[in-house]
Amino acid sequence: MESYIPISMLNDFIFCPRSIYFHLVHGNVGQDMYHTEVQIKGKSAHESIDNKHYSTRKEILMGFEVYCEKYNILGKIDIFDIKSGKLIERKNKIVKIYDGYVFQVYAQTFALREMGYVVKQIEIYDKTHNKSYPIALPEDDESMFKKFEKVIDDINLFDLNNSEFKPNVEKCKQCIYSHLCDYEIC
Ligand code: SF4
Repeated sequence: MESYIPISMLNDFIFCPRSIYFHLVHGNVGQDMYHTEVQIKGKSAHESIDNKHYSTRKEILMGFEVYCEKYNILGKIDIFDIKSGKLIERKNKIVKIYDGYVFQVYAQTFALREMGYVVKQIEIYDKTHNKSYPIALPEDDESMFKKFEKVIDDINLFDLNNSEFKPNVEKCKQCIYSHLCDYEIC
């Protein structure tokens, strides 16, 4: 396990705990080898942010690296408007708001707050459908906040050699790491 949890790992872990092993192992190689078309499109949705093309307004943080000491999480935010306190995470196409999406913006929120920023609103934005989804702040959604903390605990306690792990065939069918995983059952 790395000494910190990448924010991008939260969604992978929920999908399948074993996938975080491959996420880590392949984190430093040519990423396109391990990204499906959907993921590449999602990645391109972030490119204007990473390249800082979205806005030059000083009160807007873009593609900004953040670290949260409390949860030992490292990652990047898409867009944060310092003046309004609005945090936006853009996705290329949203089918549903998965818990992993919410946990990613929670992690970003806690990191920004540790850095002294005031986060008042969270939004996940679907570029394809030009639709915004407001997300309740962690302090306003106790059950989601508890789930978030449990996922962090589960990642910290995860043991790749746990013999009780049971793969899910439907997940294995969609898994981009299936060709590497000795547990895959599809
Ligand atoms: S192939 Fe199946 S068991 Fe292996 S990481 Fe993917 S979903 Fe998990």
